[in-house]
Amino acid sequence: MKVLVATEKPFAPKAVEDIRKEIEGAGHELVLLEKYTDKTQLLESVRDVDAMIVRSDKVTQEVLDAAENLKIIARAGAGYDSIDIEYAKTKGVVVENTPGQNSNAVAELVFGLLVYAVRNFYNGKSGTELMGKKLGILAFGNVGRNVGRIAKGFGMEVSAYDAFCPAEIIEAAGVHACNSQDELFQTNDIVSLHIPATPETIQSIDYRTVNQMGKGGILINTARKEVINEPELLKLFADRGDLKYISDIKPDADEEFKKFEGRYFATPKKMGAQTAEANINAGIAAARQINAFFAEGSTKFQVNK
Ligand code: NAD
Repeated sequence: MKVLVATEKPFAPKAVEDIRKEIEGAGHELVLLEKYTDKTQLLESVRDVDAMIVRSDKVTQEVLDAAENLKIIARAGAGYDSIDIEYAKTKGVVVENTPGQNSNAVAELVFGLLVYAVRNFYNGKSGTELMGKKLGILAFGNVGRNVGRIAKGFGMEVSAYDAFCPAEIIEAAGVHACNSQDELFQTNDIVSLHIPATPETIQSIDYRTVNQMGKGGILINTARKEVINEPELLKLFADRGDLKYISDIKPDADEEFKKFEGRYFATPKKMGAQTAEANINAGIAAARQINAFFAEGSTKFQVNK
């Protein structure tokens, strides 16, 4: 089988080496398309491949139509909103993600950003500590759970709300389970977003929701920029001078947010999953999942069933 690694933003060389070992070790052929700058390069490369590994690369209807032999796409990462999974389904193409492989990396970044925020972005003025503060985790998935684990090390009081994960699982991790998203916003000093971008969550973090936070509230987003209703958050920031917004994803309205000096920070480039470990783990997982699919028909991590 021919397996394409198509990465506009390439994997680390060590990750590519490990992916190659997995794919070739299973008797398949590996083809690399890195740092492509034009869609036509991707359309050309997918033409005769049986499988592809991607990162945040856009897999559109056009790409799927060009890939006549394609049977499986493995997204090395958690979010798969860059792939048209429904169209892939109509074409019989299995789409998988590699959940959990980058979650510690994202969770550690949450705390890097939080310390930066509560110390006033290192502007020399006295800040606050995280110990004893209340942290609310929105969505107790792979990243959320790691955030909870680390938060306890900081001595924080940790709560979580997840629309699908039962309260017992949250409580079993030593985290208080809130009954609703509103309760999470009402009862915490800091709210950390870990919801995926879905039709329900897109634009769901709006004026009303965030305005429920108490004085000096901090909203931190290492999920997706799409979950924020940016015009409403900007309006709220104009109305309330006490809130801070920290993001790992530059909002579309970055320039507008920058006007709220000392209350806003966004990483220049999405950094959450950018660690050597996450890169390698996600790449190897994607390669192994493709091998298992061809060897045993395994579709354990399929997201378009
Ligand atoms: P995950 O699939 O393990 O967990 C997602 C959780 O969200 C699940 O527990 C699910 O029940 C919950 N959920 C879904 N819809 C919800 C809703 N409407 N309300 C409340 N909870 C809801 O995913 P993960 O690995 O924890 O990652 C979470 C998100 O973080 C990803 O979807 C991705 O968009 C983002 N992410 C960002 C980076 C980065 O580089 N910053 C890296 C990895 C993941």
